[in-house]
Amino acid sequence: MTSSVSIIKCQNYEESLVLSGLRRALDLIGGIQTFVKRGDRVLLKPNLLYGKAPERAVTTHPAIIRGVIQMIREEGGFPFLGDSPGIGSASGVAGRAGIKRITDAMDCPIIEFNRPVLPKERKGRIFKNIEIDQTIFEADVIINLPKWKTHAQMLLTLGVKNLFGCIPGPRKALWHLKAGEDRKTFAQILLDVYYIIQPSLTILDGIIGMEGNGPNSGRPIPIGLILASGDSLSLDQVVCDLLGILRESLPTNRVAFEQGIEKDGIDVLGERIKEVKIPNFKFPTLSQMDWGLPDFLSKALKNVLTSKPMIDQEICNACGQCAEICPPKALVRKEKNLVFDYGRCIRCFCCLEVCPEGAISMKPGWALKMIGKRLKVKGER
Ligand code: SF4
Ligand code: SF4
Repeated sequence: MTSSVSIIKCQNYEESLVLSGLRRALDLIGGIQTFVKRGDRVLLKPNLLYGKAPERAVTTHPAIIRGVIQMIREEGGFPFLGDSPGIGSASGVAGRAGIKRITDAMDCPIIEFNRPVLPKERKGRIFKNIEIDQTIFEADVIINLPKWKTHAQMLLTLGVKNLFGCIPGPRKALWHLKAGEDRKTFAQILLDVYYIIQPSLTILDGIIGMEGNGPNSGRPIPIGLILASGDSLSLDQVVCDLLGILRESLPTNRVAFEQGIEKDGIDVLGERIKEVKIPNFKFPTLSQMDWGLPDFLSKALKNVLTSKPMIDQEICNACGQCAEICPPKALVRKEKNLVFDYGRCIRCFCCLEVCPEGAISMKPGWALKMIGKRLKVKGER
């Protein structure tokens, strides 16, 4: 089946520029009226990872939220916005990220995802018992609004990964524990969440993206693009094309291909990929290599083969948010400092995601250092 992904240039977050960019991106795939009808209750799912100012590129930019709300209203729909951030409330994060003043002014309620339910009809392909927030099933239309960012564990966080926030608060930690150190398992969980939620529309905020140590402490980078598609997976594949990496470099794409999702058959509309490719984008050092070793050997060699989180005590303000979010409780406070128990650590890098100071980084195991070169994204070209 062919799906369409539109690519539009948009150089900055000036309100009218973003609105016209959104309109052009959507017109290419059928217009907002294809997705929203009069009277629809439309849920917006932005990236609300952490409450930082919009220019830090951690969250979906308020100008994108504003533009999408306006278009929904023009179609006679009723927008509302929801998420379950890593730390804190959706409302609190939206406030610090400059989104709440927009939603308040435009009469768009913010819903906290704190009502987990087991979906009755829509199931994951492998994981059948993922509890999703009830709000998802009360919406007529779901619009996924991810931010273009790197991700220490999953390489990038785009359309599919953004939906993990539809699992209410502490339940996300349980799924991290379930995935353990296996990137492929985590990719499967993300895909199953995507199959349950089935957003009607995904719009990627790639005007300013994040490279390097994402998704919370990377470097904002001007990319100047908005992408839109009715299919998050196709959109994620086109981002790989734009970054010059193989589509299967992204673990969620790779697992989807293994399950028979077609790799080709995407209709790219608007800008041509070769004309808007992003050169020299800095990927994160991935938390783990696929060494092709037997399971027991990988486990035994965990500390020498895999990267591990480290805290820069000079930068750390001892807030304890890393310990709070750590799924296996592998971070403990010793006097003033936070200390890792690497035996328990599952290398999920949630601590890195939430650290407000960017004090946590990944340190490669010594075997990797002896190899003496940075890990390259598989298939980089
Ligand atoms: S979250 Fe960051 S700043 Fe806070 S205690 Fe952990 S390392 Fe330190
Ligand atoms: S210490 Fe960090 S990387 Fe290790 S399990 Fe805890 S949150 Fe995940």
